[in-house]
Amino acid sequence: MSKPSRGLKFCPVSNDLLYPRENKELRRLEYYCKNCDYVQAAEPGETCVHVTELKHDAKEQTVVLQDVTADPTLPRTQEVTCPQCQHNEAVFFSASSEQGMTLYFNCMLCQHRWRDYV
Ligand SMILES: [Zn+2]
Ligand SMILES: [Zn+2]
Repeated sequence: MSKPSRGLKFCPVSNDLLYPRENKELRRLEYYCKNCDYVQAAEPGETCVHVTELKHDAKEQTVVLQDVTADPTLPRTQEVTCPQCQHNEAVFFSASSEQGMTLYFNCMLCQHRWRDYV
């Protein structure tokens, strides 16, 4: 008998392989089925391992805005340089905070997010 592959999970409804994804709202790892709506939260022990793999920049998660580079309605600029990868195209958007309006840039290449005060 070979050892069962660690981490592989299957949907109890449709028997398909479950895929890991990060639930950004709940800030946890979960597994979902691509063929039905089944979702299963990862066990606490697994969370650190997989979240580290999925998200190298967990510290950037303070702003709750997702997938901004995939949003075609947001403006883009080539006037900035990403402080992380030196790429020169970023999506930008503003959000109000306690300090007033804050301008955020989100690198198109590495997804790094940084901000400027307006
Ligand atoms: Zn399923
Ligand atoms: Zn970058």
